[in-house]
Amino acid sequence: MKGFLVIFALVAAASSMEDFSGQQVLRVLPADEDQVNLVRELENLEHLQLDFWRGPTTAFYPIDIRVPFPSLQAVKVYLESNNIQYNIMIQDLQGLLEEERREMKIGRSMENARSTDSFNYATYHTLDQINGFIDTLVAENPGLVSKVVIGRSYEGRSLNVLKFSTGSNRPAFWIDTGIHSREWVTQASGIWFAKKIVSDYGRDASLTATLNKLDIFLEIVTNPDGYVYTHTTNRMWRKTRSPNTGSTCVGTDPNRNWDAGFGGAGSSSNPCSETYRGRAAHSEPEVKSIVDFVRSHGNIKGFVSIHSYSQMLLYPYGYTSARAADHVELDNLARSAVNALTSLYGTAYTYGSIITTIYQASGGTVDWTYNQGIKYSYTFELRDTGRYGFALPATQIVPTAQETWLALTKLIEHTRDNLY
Ligand SMILES: [Zn+2]
Repeated sequence: MKGFLVIFALVAAASSMEDFSGQQVLRVLPADEDQVNLVRELENLEHLQLDFWRGPTTAFYPIDIRVPFPSLQAVKVYLESNNIQYNIMIQDLQGLLEEERREMKIGRSMENARSTDSFNYATYHTLDQINGFIDTLVAENPGLVSKVVIGRSYEGRSLNVLKFSTGSNRPAFWIDTGIHSREWVTQASGIWFAKKIVSDYGRDASLTATLNKLDIFLEIVTNPDGYVYTHTTNRMWRKTRSPNTGSTCVGTDPNRNWDAGFGGAGSSSNPCSETYRGRAAHSEPEVKSIVDFVRSHGNIKGFVSIHSYSQMLLYPYGYTSARAADHVELDNLARSAVNALTSLYGTAYTYGSIITTIYQASGGTVDWTYNQGIKYSYTFELRDTGRYGFALPATQIVPTAQETWLALTKLIEHTRDNLY
């Protein structure tokens, strides 16, 4: 009887997951601004339930759209009748996600999470597993790593930040991953970074010099409610999980919720949109907790917020085409970071300001941190360029983390050597 109940619970849990069967991700290639605008009109047709993974931005820049099965025919006919070029990027999203789940089960069974040495860095993990990793890492490295709880998520989960420190009252460098919950390679990379820092301290001269001068803060699961939801209900969930008054749609885009050009172009006032900015700046506790932490710390010198996908390294601004006062320095440093990243596996990256490289986006994290006086404010878009998008195979986690670490190291070293 007990066995039957367990099986029943497993089946019930599995069947509550959103099913993407028959869905495809289309890559649309607009040839001019008129075509960009025609694709933009699709965004307003809510009954199609389209999920824009990337874009629309400008002509020649690919737009990736997840299309539910019932809308596929209509969208393809619309594109073809307007002579807009497209191809099928992901033929069978559900198949990819089932493979991902299979891989996670195998990865988990290999794992002995009682030590961070035997932890499996090459698989995706649940929130509980990541929190277990964090506590184990702190227990193993009491003089170097501690856990700071900077607040609670909307659903009451603790917002855990790892602090790597060898002294007190040091200037600091901040890294966050996973503010958009479905960008799983970012949280997985964050775990790898944490282990890399403790492994290199005392062995690698540069990292040791860094930690003798700077503290590093790392928030791995910046949007824990969304992350849990991607495991239990909808793998493609991006936003927070706070409800919206007067709407059945849930969640705010936590990368449009910051008080930097808040409410401007490149964010939505529609609670059903994936880029909904929220009812007010810093309305989301996941955002407000970082805002309060940055302000009360008062000495954060570098800030990196990590997303996927597109293979880009970006700096302010996103809400305005005005150049940042430190544009030249930020651009030079981005070039050197990208060169370091590419040197490992040849992964091609582009870099530049957010508005010129990706699109206008208001209320973004690093625009706010930059305006707070944190000069070295950057955001990454990790692998890939769309072959798998948010469903990046777990075999790419470690290579992604390794190459990204080389770029992060450049940003951290420059910050360490140019304290202001
Ligand atoms: Zn993102």
